[in-house]
Amino acid sequence: MSTNAYHLATRCAHGGARRRGDGGANEPFQRPIVQSTIFDLGSSADAEAIFSGARKGYAYSRFGNPSVEALAEAVADMEGGAEALITSSGNAAILCAVTAALEGRAGPLVTHHDVYGGTTELLGILSSVHRVPVEIVDSTNAAAWYGAVSRAGAVLLETPSNPLMRLIDLKQTVARAQACGAPVIVDNTVATPFNQRPFDFGADWIVHSTSKYLNGHSDMIGGCLVRKGRLSPRHRTIHKNLGGTVNAIDAWLVLRGLRTFALRMETHNRNGRAVAEWLIRHSLVTCVHYPGLGANSQADIFRRQMTHGGSVLSFELAGGAEAACRFLDRIKLIVHAVSLGGMESLATRPAMSSHRGMDPETRRRAGISDSLIRLSVGVEAIEDILADLDQALAG
Ligand SMILES: *Cc1c(COP(=O)(O)O)cnc(C)c1O
Repeated sequence: MSTNAYHLATRCAHGGARRRGDGGANEPFQRPIVQSTIFDLGSSADAEAIFSGARKGYAYSRFGNPSVEALAEAVADMEGGAEALITSSGNAAILCAVTAALEGRAGPLVTHHDVYGGTTELLGILSSVHRVPVEIVDSTNAAAWYGAVSRAGAVLLETPSNPLMRLIDLKQTVARAQACGAPVIVDNTVATPFNQRPFDFGADWIVHSTSKYLNGHSDMIGGCLVRKGRLSPRHRTIHKNLGGTVNAIDAWLVLRGLRTFALRMETHNRNGRAVAEWLIRHSLVTCVHYPGLGANSQADIFRRQMTHGGSVLSFELAGGAEAACRFLDRIKLIVHAVSLGGMESLATRPAMSSHRGMDPETRRRAGISDSLIRLSVGVEAIEDILADLDQALAG
């Protein structure tokens, strides 16, 4: 039953749970956790029907599982796509989407140099071991970006990028890609379907690390890929055989997290913006990167494709690496930890964590200064977050 007539907050509140009319009276409202590797195939005629696809059924949980399918339906519904596949991590989702998008395509996978660090490492392996042609472009150079997209086999992009929150114009990029038949994959992990709707701009695939906002509780690792149109049998075969499938328990955890997704995002958005505005006014802060505000605000792109700025941001401090380290040593409420999208506020120094593999000169050219701090602003009371920032930045 389609729920698209309801608002996102309503769909989240009921997301993945049993809907009126499903399965008859007296069924549990919550979807059960079907923690089973195997399913009884029934008679040989039943087994024939299941394996031939004549009838929907389950055989083995890497091929399909009711709890995992409930999550797939929920995330497809949230993004406004037709169908989704669930994976054991965001990286597994990216591998699966890139493989599906590149099949049968000549030309390279085009991406930009400030995608998520794990994505860059994954693409490095695909290119060096599997000889997949990968072209990594500076997306802030419009001529280089649109030129590469116009010659692409497939495009993988992330907007806003992390940690500098740079925006890529979805409409313009999709137009160039469509002209050469290249599928566009958007990593919507940082923006979330609450703040940005890539399918409205013509993207073909959306990928997520569900470890972040969708689950929202910092207690599991998972991913998903959503397709705007129906999945082909070949897409399902790729997903099943790449092997990054997920257990019922982890799928159920994300389903549970999704119930509060809209509620959490309202607070994340409000707190994120309040922190960004507070930091801009602080005398020791030299630069703030937040979508629609501060440095590189790219206000026109922001207005066209995002409804809110989210709760990931970064800022630079006067006083270099030493000031940034002192800030991390002094925070009390904000947790010094990687990741983003959990209910708790987190801080990291990218030069020391996510970008430490880069040589210092390349890192500086990529805009990652030694004093850059990346925040994932949580849903705590804003007064407590600002008080912690204030004491950690004080003299
Ligand atoms: C975390 C993250 C990933 C990778 O997800 P995992 O669940 O850690 O594998 C991919 N893209 C973005 C934008 C992320 O933040």
